[in-house]
Amino acid sequence: MSFSELGLDEAILRAVHDQGYDTPTPIQRQAIPAVLSGGDLLAGAQTGTGKTAGFTLPILQRLMQSPARKRGSIRALILAPTRELAAQVEESVRSYSRHLPLSSMVMFGGVGMQPQITRLRKPLDILVACPGRLLDHAGQGTVDLSGIEILVLDEADRMLDMGFIHDIRRVLRLLPAKRQNLLFSATFSDDIKRLAEGLLDKPALIEV
Ligand code: AMP
Repeated sequence: MSFSELGLDEAILRAVHDQGYDTPTPIQRQAIPAVLSGGDLLAGAQTGTGKTAGFTLPILQRLMQSPARKRGSIRALILAPTRELAAQVEESVRSYSRHLPLSSMVMFGGVGMQPQITRLRKPLDILVACPGRLLDHAGQGTVDLSGIEILVLDEADRMLDMGFIHDIRRVLRLLPAKRQNLLFSATFSDDIKRLAEGLLDKPALIEV
């Protein structure tokens, strides 16, 4: 099985090739078609399995295939537990979108708000954020989440372990009801199952 057989467009395949990837990993083989179909997804995957490309590549394709629901607004939101993970995910998004007219930004706390506010004023398609800082911006009215079409919770179990459940629920309330939701978690506690039940609509299930 090759990346081209997964139904990805040429500009995305070129970026994959630039990264030196030959073959999709097991999570990518399952997640890419599932996300392309437009449905929700519940995926059990550890870090190191290639999960980032597993959700990013099909998200890029979906964004390219349809016009923004709301002109000029952020279309995909990826929530991550730590600044390190958020930065790493955004770097991947940037690499995979290098041949596409899509822009991304990473946002986390512990650094100044102002540079982030300046960046948010420019066109932005994909936002990778830690929940706390995202809520700071939402509270100040410096981020508009009303055009979000796709939401990813990456390492959801770690976000819950770090006490982010209330922040996540607050973020969810700021998003349009009609959207695609992807939840990635290495483990499935009762808390994760409860979150998934409330969030996901007939999700495809993937475990690697
Ligand atoms: P992740 O699990 O998303 O953190 O990815 C783990 C590592 O695997 C990253 O360094 C990726 O660059 C790399 N990777 C992702 N997909 C592939 C692939 N299909 N072939 C080879 N390496 C990959």
